Amino acid sequence: MPAAPRVFVTTSWDDDDRTGLKVAELLTRSGLLGTFYVPTGRLGADSTLAPHDLRTLHSAGFEIGAHTVSHAILPRLVPSQLSHEVRDCKLALEQHLSAEVPMFCYPKGRFNAAVVHELKNAGYRGARTTQMLTFTGDFPPFAIPTTLQAYPHTRSNYVRNLVRLRAGAVLLQSIPTLIRFEDWLRLGKSTFDHILHEGGAWHLYGHPWEIERLGLWAQLEDLFDYVAHSPGVIYVTNGQLVEAIHGKALQGAENPSRIRV
Ligand SMILES: [Zn+2]
Repeated sequence: MPAAPRVFVTTSWDDDDRTGLKVAELLTRSGLLGTFYVPTGRLGADSTLAPHDLRTLHSAGFEIGAHTVSHAILPRLVPSQLSHEVRDCKLALEQHLSAEVPMFCYPKGRFNAAVVHELKNAGYRGARTTQMLTFTGDFPPFAIPTTLQAYPHTRSNYVRNLVRLRAGAVLLQSIPTLIRFEDWLRLGKSTFDHILHEGGAWHLYGHPWEIERLGLWAQLEDLFDYVAHSPGVIYVTNGQLVEAIHGKALQGAENPSRIRV
């Protein structure tokens, strides 16, 4: 009998809004893990997360990842600015957490070879993109794709996303899924069912401020319940996913014992 396919579930949450704490509360209730990618330039101001919030999330088993200092679009920057955005956010987070921060998320999903080179030199081990509709657990660590965003995209948005990223093969594989789904919640459930059967990584990402603005909390909770506590599924942070797939020890990844591979 063939071995059961490995199934991972991970989530990631972008930006510095305090509503991230509400996402963390719902994740905890469902026993899910995730990575919060936080720009460091405004921490503690107005309605943003403060350093002590990051420590609270970190000690609850969530990963804190870097998301630049000022949420700058990286391929537009000159080398000195790129270095500042990539390195200073890592340093600030590591000082706040007293732990290594190995993961990064590209603002607006924008990156190029120079950006990846800078990330590797700065000591990162992986970075998340905004590519959606990817089911596979086989991906380059500096181009981590997602399965879907907690956002009511139209079908044409998904197609545009894949065309822009030149993800032609993914687009072809995804067409049957896109034809079937009616809304993002249904898409989330059907992609989870697919991955549960075939193996791979189910990766939900979102912006907590957008979930608040669009009133998506009840749907988000519904989706968390659907994917939670599934026998054989490995629930991980983004860093733990990269570690499990690429076999590299990510120092600073929280609760590595939670990975049962
Ligand atoms: Zn962002």
